[in-house]
Amino acid sequence: MATGNINVSVENIFPLIKKFLYSDHEIFLRELISNATDATLKLKHLTSIGEAKIEYGSPIIEIKIDEEKKQLHIIDQGIGMTADEVEKYINQVAFSGAEEFLEKYKDSAKDTGIIGHFGLGFYSAFMVADKVEIITKSYKDEPAAHWICDGSPTYSIDAHDKTERGTEIILHIGEEDTEFLEKNRIQELLVKYNKFMPVPIKFGTKTETLPKPEDAKEEDPAPTQEVDNIINNPNPAWTKQPADLKDEDYKSFYRELYPMQFEEPLFNIHLNVDYPFNLTGILYFPKLGQDLNLQKDRIQLYQNQVFVTDNVEGIVPEFLTMLRGVIDSPDIPLNVSRSYLQADGNVKKISSYITRKVADKLNSMFKNNREDFEQKWNDIKIVIEYGMLSEEKFFEKADKFTLYPTVDDSFLTFEELQEKIKDKQTDKDDKLIILYASNKDEQHAYITAAKEKGYEVLLLDSPIVSHLIQKLETSKEKISFVRVDADHIDNLIKKDEETISKLSDEEKESLKTDLEKVIPTTTYTIQLEAMDSNASPFMITQPEFMRRMKEMQQTGGGGMFGMGNMPEMFNLVVNVNHELIGQIANTKTDKKKERLIKQSLDLAKLSQNLLKGEELTDFIKRSFEMIK
Ligand code: ADP
Repeated sequence: MATGNINVSVENIFPLIKKFLYSDHEIFLRELISNATDATLKLKHLTSIGEAKIEYGSPIIEIKIDEEKKQLHIIDQGIGMTADEVEKYINQVAFSGAEEFLEKYKDSAKDTGIIGHFGLGFYSAFMVADKVEIITKSYKDEPAAHWICDGSPTYSIDAHDKTERGTEIILHIGEEDTEFLEKNRIQELLVKYNKFMPVPIKFGTKTETLPKPEDAKEEDPAPTQEVDNIINNPNPAWTKQPADLKDEDYKSFYRELYPMQFEEPLFNIHLNVDYPFNLTGILYFPKLGQDLNLQKDRIQLYQNQVFVTDNVEGIVPEFLTMLRGVIDSPDIPLNVSRSYLQADGNVKKISSYITRKVADKLNSMFKNNREDFEQKWNDIKIVIEYGMLSEEKFFEKADKFTLYPTVDDSFLTFEELQEKIKDKQTDKDDKLIILYASNKDEQHAYITAAKEKGYEVLLLDSPIVSHLIQKLETSKEKISFVRVDADHIDNLIKKDEETISKLSDEEKESLKTDLEKVIPTTTYTIQLEAMDSNASPFMITQPEFMRRMKEMQQTGGGGMFGMGNMPEMFNLVVNVNHELIGQIANTKTDKKKERLIKQSLDLAKLSQNLLKGEELTDFIKRSFEMIK
């Protein structure tokens, strides 16, 4: 037997390892299974190039719990190590790697996100074990070696009588980490980190029911057999070629990824690139509707089929974090902090590649099957709108396929919309006036009025629409979005001829004085307009700018302080050509005049959903009095 001292400058790095990222103790298992996988794949490679003259067979990795001895075993059938190699790779490489890692990150570890997910390798075993043994037999014709280390820099190495090729790691689990001797806990970890690793992983056995033999009687139980319980799928869909996958394969992989998710995805995007960086993956568009905070099933990040994290912030552009699926790339540096990650050149390229792929996919869906794309629109628009707001490159591409639904359930691209309204809906400066509604029921009266004039009305109802409108107005020339209940459209849109007022200027003056006596001018700006006699006599509108700013502030449009506290201001548009207004102007008694004005104002408020509480009660009472 030989003993030695591991050559590290830190007297004892184990207490450090134990303390390091306490909550991430569990990653030790992933690290050891990754090593076992690497050792197996190395053997595969060596046999394929004829370097190792042995039968590769179908090696597996086995995880075993020995509750009595308080041990956890990780056993592989990979290349193994000779005693010299243990000396070199474990005592020197692994130790110095771990030391270097800890030196570098022990201070910054707490405030960083991603490094905790990665990097300690073999030595992470000491996060949970008081003592670690390695029994390993190389594929080369050399005796097996047995290495033992109890967490101090001293180790022993000896010969062992193991005859099968491969490595067995034995962890003597410490008092504080006995959770890792529980079957359920290990099962949970294997599913979390190793579900798609490329070598089959066995954890115990399970009972399988076999078909009954032909001559079995009805009451005979079906025969069973014990089989290996393999917890992973070594060939997940994203590692295959898109051409080899059918729609159903993508759907069943989605169910494999999110077993608790019962709704099917709308469509998927297969990512596959090997230059200038390596990345594979499948992204799914789920049905999103209006819900912006749907975050429980997230995109999962893998490296060579090893799960790393489901927090892809900084790697995937923010607007796409609403999607689901898998990204696998060995080119994402994980032993760095998030802020460093975001500055990394490769990561930037990956992020813009993903953005481009998503835009291209949407564009081809729009082009190839517009009807289907329209049907999906309301479920995906949030992602697209959010992307247009946050990524300039995406905005440019999305402009061609973004749809604008109308209140009549048809869908127009911006270009189509422009073409459709360019002759009818312009203001005096030839600016295009785009009318929209945000709620068909609430704005029914205004929508009807606009449509009667032959105007096109869009239905824009997503929660971030005010931001999008603002963005469109600044990036396109000569357009203005106006909600149907905003500034009165007749005042906005250029008409061929002016409507002549039925009231003289003097009559208007005195009408205005009368109105101001009854209507609170702190809330309403009174506007007398000569309109079509059929148009509503009283109409309440709210200036587009003010309302939009308020909405933007509510949905997080930073920098607009105080807008939320501004008093509500409305316009009261009075149609002087309406019969009722003429009647009001000609009413002799003040009392009756006041009553007519009050009733008209209340009706206008009612149609805007502004009449509430005591005012509404009074109005109803008064109306009953009137008709009795
Ligand atoms: P890394 O895997 O990043 O190189 P580790 O500390 O995890 O660092 O491992 C150090 C080295 O020990 C590996 O590079 C490998 O050569 C060797 N090794 C670790 N585990 C095994 C194993 N199960 N079978 C064969 N060799 C192994």
